Amino acid sequence: MFFNIINSGLRIGASTATITDPRTRKPLYEVPVASTQDLDDAVKSARLAFSSWKHVPIDQRQKVLLELADKLDEHRCKIHQVLAKETGKSDLLANIEIDHTLKFLRFNASQELPDEIQHEDAMLKIVSTYRPIGVVGAICPWNFPLVLAAAKIAAALVTGNCIIVKPSPFTPCATLKFAELAISVLPPGVLQALNGDNDLGRLITIHPGIDKVTFTGSTATGRLVAANAAKTLKRVTLELGGNDASIVCPDVDVKIVAQKIAAGVFFHSGQMCVATKRVYVHRDIFTEFRDAFVEAVRNIEIDVSGKLPTTFSPMQNELQYNIVKSLIDDSRKNGYTLLRGDPSDEERLGFFIHPVVVDQPPEDSKVIQVEQFGPIIPLSTWSSEVDVIDRVNRVDTGLGSCVWAKDIGIAQRVARQLEVGTVWINSAEIPDPRGYFSGWKQSGIGGEWGKEGLRSYCHIQTIQLYK
Ligand code: NAD
Repeated sequence: MFFNIINSGLRIGASTATITDPRTRKPLYEVPVASTQDLDDAVKSARLAFSSWKHVPIDQRQKVLLELADKLDEHRCKIHQVLAKETGKSDLLANIEIDHTLKFLRFNASQELPDEIQHEDAMLKIVSTYRPIGVVGAICPWNFPLVLAAAKIAAALVTGNCIIVKPSPFTPCATLKFAELAISVLPPGVLQALNGDNDLGRLITIHPGIDKVTFTGSTATGRLVAANAAKTLKRVTLELGGNDASIVCPDVDVKIVAQKIAAGVFFHSGQMCVATKRVYVHRDIFTEFRDAFVEAVRNIEIDVSGKLPTTFSPMQNELQYNIVKSLIDDSRKNGYTLLRGDPSDEERLGFFIHPVVVDQPPEDSKVIQVEQFGPIIPLSTWSSEVDVIDRVNRVDTGLGSCVWAKDIGIAQRVARQLEVGTVWINSAEIPDPRGYFSGWKQSGIGGEWGKEGLRSYCHIQTIQLYK
């Protein structure tokens, strides 16, 4: 059974919702749906908890986070099963997500924001101090539900905030179970979890008892969150969508790089915010690259059981399934060349979509210009560095990108001209708890993770001490 977690208690909802199994489209779990009263109760409890949690010494808060990580490790099997089922991830992929969740918890447990002396002379000392903001509302998406929630939880708690997490209504189960595990580790009200639909998200953004909203999700919803949070001038961090590019330079080991890019593109079938969503390959190596890429795609296994060690998944939900299908249809209708593996694999019971490679569609095609968030990928060519940088930057989002080159000088030169929050050089996109993560342009406001990310959970108070 699944429960909302309020003030260290297990609460069933006034109503319930059914979670669908992405592998079979059949009903999977019944989950509670939080009411407005549940939210009010959670906020009241969080406010009370904050008055003492903020005074708990940092080493104690760090210790508690480590205990939380240990608890997750201890109950890993139970959480793993739920996470794999609700997301449609293979056993391997769900294990990767749990490993990353542990890394985020343990990294944050090693962090603190000590005072920083900004200026000191005989007369005056100016010091920046980092103070928790208060009660944080964390609104999360469905693609990596546990790790994205845990990253917010870990940063909020270590900096002395209390947090109420609202998972996506598509994938609330592992997060609710994780919050349940935390009951034996944390004081009441410090970490609470409420499952609910989009309207519960809206209610969090306008609640006067919540001081900050940290939101990860689509750009469209991010705009609504920002507008609603403005009503009470809450602090807001927005981690939104992107349309990330891989730029492949002519000096690479073509076959190896093609395989690596394909692995990144189709990791969780492209349902990853920073997955490469457009590939730009230098003209001189394009044909060789395309052949190697398609070969790698042919080797991707679609496994309905979830037991094979593959990182390819069904779409998590029907909405996303239909978005990706319509992109494939659009590419077909426009007469683009679709290179693909075995089309007989395509129709299956669950939300599986066979990987599709689109060969050199026009730059203004939908498949290049929109965030597909699924297993369809356009391959394009480039010949001038200035031109490819311009094409990569010519979208209104800027989350991440990859540059692939043997010549690190060139890779760095290109990376530093991209208008994105993170650039990976010679690697597919692997988020790391130690690296600040932020979206430029319409990919977000502010950022999280790393030491820098902790600041987004703090007010900076300046102390000017006259000696
Ligand atoms: P979504 O925006 O549809 O939903 C995200 C969350 O917002 C859900 O919990 C939902 O219930 C809630 N919500 C919906 N309407 C709301 C409202 N009006 N007010 C407050 N909350 C509301 O996103 P999704 O489909 O769950 O996730 C996929 C998107 O998330 C993609 O665009 C992806 O790129 C993005 N994403 C970004 C990052 C990042 O770190 N930048 C990470 C993962 C996913």
